[in-house]
Amino acid sequence: MKLLVILLFSGLTTGCRGNSSHSLPPKLLLVSFDGFRADYLQNYEFPHLQNFIKEGVLVEHVKNVFITKTFPNHYSIVTGLYEESHGIVANSMYDVITQKHFSDFDDKDPFWWNEAVPIWVTNQLQENRSSAAAMWPGTDVPIHNTTPSYFMNYSSSVSFEERLNNITMWLMNSNPPVTFATLYWEEPDASGHKYGPEDKENMYRVLKEVDNLIGELVHKLKVLGLWENLNVIITSDHGMTQCSKDRLINLDLCIDRSSYTLIDLTPVAAILPKINTTEVYNKLKVCNPHMNVYLKEDIPARFHYQHNDRIQPIILVADEGWTIVLNKSLPKLGDHGYDNSLSSMHPFLAAHGPAFHKGYKHSTINSVDIYPMMCHILGLQPHSNNGTFGHTKCLLVDQWCINLPEAIGIVIGALLVLTTLTCLIIIMQNRLSVPRPFSRLQLQEDDDDPLIE
Ligand SMILES: [Zn+2]
Repeated sequence: MKLLVILLFSGLTTGCRGNSSHSLPPKLLLVSFDGFRADYLQNYEFPHLQNFIKEGVLVEHVKNVFITKTFPNHYSIVTGLYEESHGIVANSMYDVITQKHFSDFDDKDPFWWNEAVPIWVTNQLQENRSSAAAMWPGTDVPIHNTTPSYFMNYSSSVSFEERLNNITMWLMNSNPPVTFATLYWEEPDASGHKYGPEDKENMYRVLKEVDNLIGELVHKLKVLGLWENLNVIITSDHGMTQCSKDRLINLDLCIDRSSYTLIDLTPVAAILPKINTTEVYNKLKVCNPHMNVYLKEDIPARFHYQHNDRIQPIILVADEGWTIVLNKSLPKLGDHGYDNSLSSMHPFLAAHGPAFHKGYKHSTINSVDIYPMMCHILGLQPHSNNGTFGHTKCLLVDQWCINLPEAIGIVIGALLVLTTLTCLIIIMQNRLSVPRPFSRLQLQEDDDDPLIE
């Protein structure tokens, strides 16, 4: 019965949503606070973010993609693809065939981005819709000859306030209307690198500032009347872990620099051998016990990090908290990029708006699941991707889902009802079959009559 009521109700609400969507297209704002490690939420206070979550949903851990770096993970969120499939396989890349280089400071060549189609491009190909972006990686590049209708060229010196002003202005006053927008902020990543996540005092201060920015965001959306109808996702690309000068892996102690080209360094080094690959591999293999060394063809399948020309013939993966260096001291106290099964590498996701439940908590999804969910909310046909829409159904009001505690509750409830009914039936049967008080059998006269006359 309960099931029937819920199904009917969800059908009704879906119906209503379908009708209203003609007049008001769904809108989505995707926000990233770079390097927001999932357990900061448990270890620090975030009054503004907690208010946001109270009225929306929280995914406590988002399993991101390997390597757990900024550019690759931001592109996975907006394409639903592993790095080997979308082609942004690191913050520093080299393409052997074209001999092109990619870095944080030289990322504008569409060549690097064109292996995938990000959601802002797909959104814009729909009739009467545009996209807007305030500095999400890739949004200032003409991917498949398309930038968002409204975007800002990347500059870390532009304030959060200016980015927010632009985004809200575009969400309010554009024709065709902006239905998908992104907003990016460099903290708490920058401070996480500088101080390390174990520096409680500095991280407390930085995370309080991040929370205040979330407060500003919500306040502005409310003042402008955008809050009720806008879907807002707040998430991040990766976490952060503590590094130490006592945990250094010095490649110079193992191999001569002249025998390879270093494409990327730490915590995942990308090595392009200049001499025989096996020779380079054999030297690196015995270099340090806190580093895994893989030939490209032997990279574990769980990383989904193999089938792309931009992945180099040898990669080195440092253990958590270890830093690969070239005869240098420790460059930073905090870092990320490590194995994506480490919880310290995971970000969180919170969401609020008409598409999302209120006050719902979920333990985990994959970062590649965010893309099909966003496409669903916006009514877009997703491109082929590595995500699973079903993983996010419990977050959405127009979807039917059973989570584990609910399923256990329903099974226990059903068993209780069945047991009660069985008991009642047994009791009733016992009552009905109570023997009548003994009375002597009276033989009737005709009882002796022969059956056949
Ligand atoms: Zn980052």
